[in-house]
Amino acid sequence: MPPFEPLPAIPDNNALELEILDLWEREGTFDQLRERNRGGPKWSFVDGPVTANKKLAMHTAWGRTLKDVFQRYKALRGFDQRYQNGFDCQGLWIEVGVEKQLGLNSKREIEEYGLAEFARKCRDVVAWSANELWRGSKRLGQWMDWGNDYFTFSDTNIEYIWRFLKTVHERGWLYLGHRSTEWCPRCGTSLSQHELSQSGVYQERADPSLFVRFPLKEYHGEALVIWTTTPWTLPANVAAAVKPDAEYGLRENGEWVAVARYPDETFTRTVGGEELVGLRYEGPFDTLQPGESVEHRVISWKDVTLDQGTGIVHIAPGCGAEDFELSTVHDLPVLMPVDEGGRFYDEYGWLHRLSTAEAADQIVGDLKERGLLVEAGLYEHSYPHCWRCDTPLIFRIADDWFIGVDEVRPQLLEANATVEWTPEYMGKRMDDWLRNMGDWNISRRRFYGLPLPVYRCSCGRVNLIGSKAELAERAVRGMEQLEELHRPWIDGVVISCEACGGEVERIPEVGDVWLDAGIVPFSTLGWQNPECVPGGHATGAAKGLSTADLPDHAYWEEWFPADWVSEMREQIRLWFYSQLFMSVVLIGRAPFKSALGYEKMLDEKGREMHGSWGNMIEAEEAFERMGADVMRWQFCAQPPDRNMLFGYGPAHEIKRKLLTLWHSAKFFVDYGNVDDFTPRFSDLDSGPEIELRPLDRWLVARTNELVADATEALESQLTHRLVAAFEAFVEDLSNWYIRRSRRRFWDGDEVALRTLWYAVVQSLRVVSPVMPFLTDHLWRNLARPAEGAPASIHLMPWPVPGAVDEALLADVAAVRRVVELGRQARSSSGIKLRQPLRKLIVQGVELRDGHVDEIADELRVKEVVFGQVGATELRVKPNLPRLGPKLGKELGAVRAALQAGEFEELGDGRFRAAGHELDPDEVLVERHGLEGWALATDDGLTVALDTSVDAALELEGRGFDLIHRLNSRRKDAGFELTDRINVTLPREFAGLVEQHGEWIAREVLALGIEVGDVDEPQLERA
Ligand SMILES: [Zn+2]
Ligand SMILES: [Zn+2]
Repeated sequence: MPPFEPLPAIPDNNALELEILDLWEREGTFDQLRERNRGGPKWSFVDGPVTANKKLAMHTAWGRTLKDVFQRYKALRGFDQRYQNGFDCQGLWIEVGVEKQLGLNSKREIEEYGLAEFARKCRDVVAWSANELWRGSKRLGQWMDWGNDYFTFSDTNIEYIWRFLKTVHERGWLYLGHRSTEWCPRCGTSLSQHELSQSGVYQERADPSLFVRFPLKEYHGEALVIWTTTPWTLPANVAAAVKPDAEYGLRENGEWVAVARYPDETFTRTVGGEELVGLRYEGPFDTLQPGESVEHRVISWKDVTLDQGTGIVHIAPGCGAEDFELSTVHDLPVLMPVDEGGRFYDEYGWLHRLSTAEAADQIVGDLKERGLLVEAGLYEHSYPHCWRCDTPLIFRIADDWFIGVDEVRPQLLEANATVEWTPEYMGKRMDDWLRNMGDWNISRRRFYGLPLPVYRCSCGRVNLIGSKAELAERAVRGMEQLEELHRPWIDGVVISCEACGGEVERIPEVGDVWLDAGIVPFSTLGWQNPECVPGGHATGAAKGLSTADLPDHAYWEEWFPADWVSEMREQIRLWFYSQLFMSVVLIGRAPFKSALGYEKMLDEKGREMHGSWGNMIEAEEAFERMGADVMRWQFCAQPPDRNMLFGYGPAHEIKRKLLTLWHSAKFFVDYGNVDDFTPRFSDLDSGPEIELRPLDRWLVARTNELVADATEALESQLTHRLVAAFEAFVEDLSNWYIRRSRRRFWDGDEVALRTLWYAVVQSLRVVSPVMPFLTDHLWRNLARPAEGAPASIHLMPWPVPGAVDEALLADVAAVRRVVELGRQARSSSGIKLRQPLRKLIVQGVELRDGHVDEIADELRVKEVVFGQVGATELRVKPNLPRLGPKLGKELGAVRAALQAGEFEELGDGRFRAAGHELDPDEVLVERHGLEGWALATDDGLTVALDTSVDAALELEGRGFDLIHRLNSRRKDAGFELTDRINVTLPREFAGLVEQHGEWIAREVLALGIEVGDVDEPQLERA
């Protein structure tokens, strides 16, 4: 039995990964790891919940990979950790999906369908998706405490939010706002500021661009011209705003516009804006009842823009935020033309029941007919859309519940200053948001969400309920039917008002989903919970989905705050924000010490990924086609401050790179088996304890450097640095160490095998968090024959970096640079690498002797000298008749120095060599032009390669050609690595064999080489 399982030429990633998953399952690898770390130092990770309405999406896989990488890394370092996964389970995302599934198109249809049944369908989606996400995440290799998850729709989670809201209310920050707000007509609800900040909300679209005449009442024949891109708001017009200090001009046709907008026009009259203020005009839809009763007039507004439009702004306070503000200043009436669903109210006559989009055409037609339309076209702009259903948003006046943020804002900023953000600018983004954010709109007019525990009594008292127990205490009726804290059941509970004792019903609104996720650092860790409740997260809708306990307060003390959280950048205004906000309100400090954010994922061509564009990548398919390791590699190679371009193209490139690692491991396995090599586990502590050659010492130093770099990368939360360090290492391992040591492996050199084993295994250890499958697969093959090695690489501790011999690393790095330049010089001269050459001159670096041989060997040159490479090459020889008598027995030393190029030019034709100054007549100087030399230069380093090939070199070159040819034949003929052969060559090789036969035989493992009557070289096993 060979000690190692032979490796195929190419790994089957998918099959290999499924096999490893199975082994982890059977051997309980993750449990063993957690058991080992129990009681160790703590590293607290709190998972941001993933919305449970889909299968594993690729951007989710990215986030999960990063979470897993750092949890694995900390586990290797012996940290005791929490591995609780979380699901986001309620709110619009879930509702919209169920609506689509059931073919429901409006809130009315949901109500008709029945809220109880609708709630059950929502829960079904969550249960289905949780299963899918478990499956996908496990396949990805993520190690979590699956089954002990938290679900944000559990009664436990909801109760914690209730407690938070009650605290907010006690501080006087909860209020009912009456304001104009972005509104999704399809979802029938307003959206909060942070929801609008999500990616994808602002999209380019073309809207109607209308220039409309508002005839002045007092000046017959004159009219204001306004510009709008939202025709549907015209029936709600109440005023026209002008800039008081701008100049307005009257066109010959009676139209008033701002002069600055039409600098090339001539006007019959111009006036300052303030002169227009107070003029009355005919409203564009005075023909409809609501407009009829309004006295339309010109108002002054200093913020009127002169960058677009006409400089006269149409004001409809019911349809715009600034318009609404102006209505409070100028005491303007507020007309609300559309209902929750974005359809015109009945009093709007012929517009009634039309949507805002449907109304646009009719409005344009009507204005045209009445001669009020100056011009109509299209206007391209970036316009907000609903982040859930993609419907263009409108403005509506709504009564929403808000949390006032001004009082807590300074504390939020202070708390954020305690957080270590990676990349750093994400922390600044958070600061910007905290400084500029408005009050938090927490209410949504929907169904399946956090029921806001607000009971507003007709006496004016707003009652807040802080827990289920308090609800039961205050309930007048309805507790018996309360299945869970969701609509419709919660709406059936009526309480008594704490002020007047009257009966009060809950307001119908549900809460912003970010409340659900923001409370997690409290609800999942048992904040202020007197004693641990087994299964305490399986409450309400989460019953049967989780077995997670609700820990007690002592546990919260142990695990709060989180040492680390990580999500995509847009979560700065979402989950990062909501948990920071809730934590600062509840306990006055940040809920996490450090946070890793990352930019977004695009397809490999840099486009957004969309299901309808056909460029979405399904996780399932990616697992099969690229494997989880390659996916993870791609995620981890990504610097977090740039968008990821994800796809099969980059995956292919990664596979190619990883193949180099695979081939290095295979190389080891092949020769390890030939030599029946037994690895020593103890070598992994401090390197192979055996007399090493310089190249071995270099590889050990290089390995130590990798361990140090990897540690540094992960400590800085920058996985791409680990990936880069590893890729460079594999390149060095394969293209320097192995390639330069081949002969030693042929000879069964144990030192080389031990060094190679050490390097490969150590490198696997440091990338095991990134690539848990392949590394464990190779570990189980390479390391387990070593006595004392654990079954899985994931049960090893993180390696301790040994001392790094910096000087040695620098030397070899310089050698490799010289070699690289030498190759460039060769390829520029068109001489193939197998052809030996006479000489290489290196300028810009000095190296020790051993390295000189390496360079000569790598570049197939007979001689490497360090010296000046000029535009011309200088050769200095002794003028013997003059110098001989002068120097006597010193002549030999001077002659050798000159030959080696070890001389100094002193000017005026004089030189110094071997300590002697030589006059111009004592030397013969030859300067060789560039003719016959190939040069390459890079960053202070220059090499010049003598390209002249004489007969001897030519013959040797033929020798290398032959060796290459014979070794290819060996491979093709299927000889084992160790098989000795006999070779017969055609007669034309007689001269070559006579001169170089022994050397060639050695290189092809031949016992004998003969020439005979053959046309082609013949090989046979000896
Ligand atoms: Zn919507
Ligand atoms: Zn009351």
